Amino acid sequence: MLMASSAATQKDWYCILGAHPSDSQAELKQKYQKLALLHHPDKRHKAEDIEQTTEGAQKFIEISQAWKILGNEETKREYDLQRRETEITRSCHVDSLITLEEMEWEDDEEYFCYTCRCGGRYILAEEDLEQSLLVNCDSCSLIIEVYKQNIDLMQ
Ligand SMILES: [Zn+2]
Repeated sequence: MLMASSAATQKDWYCILGAHPSDSQAELKQKYQKLALLHHPDKRHKAEDIEQTTEGAQKFIEISQAWKILGNEETKREYDLQRRETEITRSCHVDSLITLEEMEWEDDEEYFCYTCRCGGRYILAEEDLEQSLLVNCDSCSLIIEVYKQNIDLMQ
């Protein structure tokens, strides 16, 4: 029992629902319902690929578990706390790993900038530089992980 519950905390339920921690209950519910419908075992009877069917059933179980936790105010709050501690965000929305060299230095603003595939921007101030770090897109929920290892070559 203990093992099962500690394993469960390793999963990113937001990621499974394609949601974001800042989403409202209504948004979460909407995302859950859409996915649940899509992956519902009843919908997959006609799937030719047996592997795909198993995968779908597995997905449906995960989606249900995610909603069980995020759909309840109390368990959601508890999970949010755990999540912040374990930083499992890393496994989820990280879109790409880039080096600092790949970012553009904006002279006027004095920050590094990288264009997201949504058209938004990742902005990294010079004072925030560390060994490696996560940067949020300013318009979607994607994250890039930036490595500054190559910067030494530039200096
Ligand atoms: Zn984006």
